[in-house]
Amino acid sequence: MKLNQFVIIGLGRFGSNLGRELVRLGYEVLGVDRDEEKVQELSNVLTHTIVADATEEEVLRSVGARNFDCGVVAIGDDIQASILATILLKELGVKKVVAKAVSDLHGRVLERMGVDRIIYPERDMGVRVAHQLVSPNLLDYIELSKKYTIAELAVPQCWSGKSLEDVDLRGKFGCSIVAINKPQGMIIAPAAKDVLSTEDVMVVIGTNDQIEQCQESFDSGE
Ligand code: ATP
Repeated sequence: MKLNQFVIIGLGRFGSNLGRELVRLGYEVLGVDRDEEKVQELSNVLTHTIVADATEEEVLRSVGARNFDCGVVAIGDDIQASILATILLKELGVKKVVAKAVSDLHGRVLERMGVDRIIYPERDMGVRVAHQLVSPNLLDYIELSKKYTIAELAVPQCWSGKSLEDVDLRGKFGCSIVAINKPQGMIIAPAAKDVLSTEDVMVVIGTNDQIEQCQESFDSGE
């Protein structure tokens, strides 16, 4: 399902930055906040904005919330408001509902309500930054499941000028390079003869253990 239209409830730091980025990426965004000042700030940025209390069913009905492909509840501190707005979006039939949680308990309640995706912005970012701080070669990663990860790894100095065949990532660690992002462009499904340089970024898929071992070998300069 391709998501095109988003409604964001709550235009705090998280909701407003999410909205800005979605608009930058070319999507339509309706921003809803009960705080007039927040709405004013984004009125020229988002596609539509409205000052309203999202815990009122009539409000969400009248803005046609049910026609949006995805609803994001970005209210954190007021857990009651977050839960009410989430229930309303679900009941109105919004196809995909995403909600921000500020605590484990808040997240568990949202999970019980059948929210499609729960985001813990501070916790998730803390975990991500911790991984990047302890592994200098790790630029970014996506957890595909509890076991598998796709990681973006900087090419270590010791691999510069070597081909994929020479470094033999699969043979040594079991993980695979699925793409190489070079300054001149991306190579998808690279060949064994493709050569790495320190300016490149490798996109590697494997189990968490395999990727960890691979990073450790970079640190030890092998
Ligand atoms: P952030 O960390 O994203 O900045 P915050 O902790 O500062 O969030 P929150 O309490 O999470 O603020 O609320 C985010 C936004 O949601 C605020 O701008 C607030 O006005 C708005 N908001 C809260 N309750 C409602 C509601 N019932 N209807 C509409 N907007 C609401």
